[in-house]
Amino acid sequence: MACFIPLVEGANLLQQVLYHRDTLNDKMPRAGFKSITVSDYVYNRFFGTYERTRRDLELKGITSFSGYLTSMMEEIMTKYETFSRHAPFMEKIDVDQNRITVKDNKRKRIVEVFLKDDKLRCSLDESIDCAHIGFVYSLPEFYNIIAAKGIRISRPSFKQSKIKGNAFI
Ligand SMILES: [Zn+2]
Repeated sequence: MACFIPLVEGANLLQQVLYHRDTLNDKMPRAGFKSITVSDYVYNRFFGTYERTRRDLELKGITSFSGYLTSMMEEIMTKYETFSRHAPFMEKIDVDQNRITVKDNKRKRIVEVFLKDDKLRCSLDESIDCAHIGFVYSLPEFYNIIAAKGIRISRPSFKQSKIKGNAFI
């Protein structure tokens, strides 16, 4: 493994070695923690987002970059698990600017969910709170669309009768 040690300006050899030993020690994870290695590209991408949203994150009690990554991973895992629960019943077919096409395997139908006037509407059920709408809310692509459009959507509360256990039915 190649190791690049940059020189510290104005320091003698011993100072250089001590400096880099301390730097390396700083990077060792504390007891009870694990560290992972990612490419500069990935790191910079996440760190850039962290820096830009730092103030909002502090309001949520997130005060460090690792705290930010942890909360991101938890959020993504939750979405992924929600998605997995729906997967046997629903599949994403296509996503475009104002329309998300979903395959409902239970009802054996292709369903179009339209985004109009900041609201989602299911063409099959003529509804704004059916299982298909719930499924669209679990798609990361949906959040990319609304972010690109600068729309803020508050998720509606789904009717109790439509939710059994944790799955939309
Ligand atoms: Zn529907």
